[in-house]
Amino acid sequence: MIGLDVLAVGYLVRDADGELLEAHSTSTLIRTGDSSIVVDTSSRFMRPALKSSFRDLGVYPKDVDTVVLTHSHQDHTGNLDLFPNAEVYVQAGGDDLGADVNVIEGDMQLCSGVRLVRTPGHTPDSMSVFVEADRAYVVAGDAVPTEDNYRKMVPPRICADREAAMESINSIANFADIIVPGHGFPFMTR
Ligand SMILES: [Zn+2]
Repeated sequence: MIGLDVLAVGYLVRDADGELLEAHSTSTLIRTGDSSIVVDTSSRFMRPALKSSFRDLGVYPKDVDTVVLTHSHQDHTGNLDLFPNAEVYVQAGGDDLGADVNVIEGDMQLCSGVRLVRTPGHTPDSMSVFVEADRAYVVAGDAVPTEDNYRKMVPPRICADREAAMESINSIANFADIIVPGHGFPFMTR
């Protein structure tokens, strides 16, 4: 049985003109029975929140065997060093993280029920994690930065390719009962 827990609920702070002042990603733990997978590690600022969630769940960060980074922006990768024993997966085309990572190109079945899916648009290296658990979940990173992007069907504000971004949102929408956005709480799609 696969279970998901949100370790830290990320958020964005904008000024009156919509200029981004702060960004902290949501971080999610997926447990499959024999694997503990963290999707996005959030920002340095969220480190205490992350650690206290691990304590509450009775999981040690050193026992996390896999980290998936939905893309290479700092607000998603800031606590990568908390997971020294994890295999790290990133999609090709992102920034150099100065760490030992597995660079994949395209989709990949990580384990039974957990699939890495390329969802470009926000950045060329954006990917999402499609999970078949009690429901169909997508941990979307900034392919769906906020619930608002989904409800209004608008691409991320920071967007390398709007057309690709809309295709990615649609493929996520087709699969997901529940989306974990890049920033904010999980939400139901229907
Ligand atoms: Zn980003």
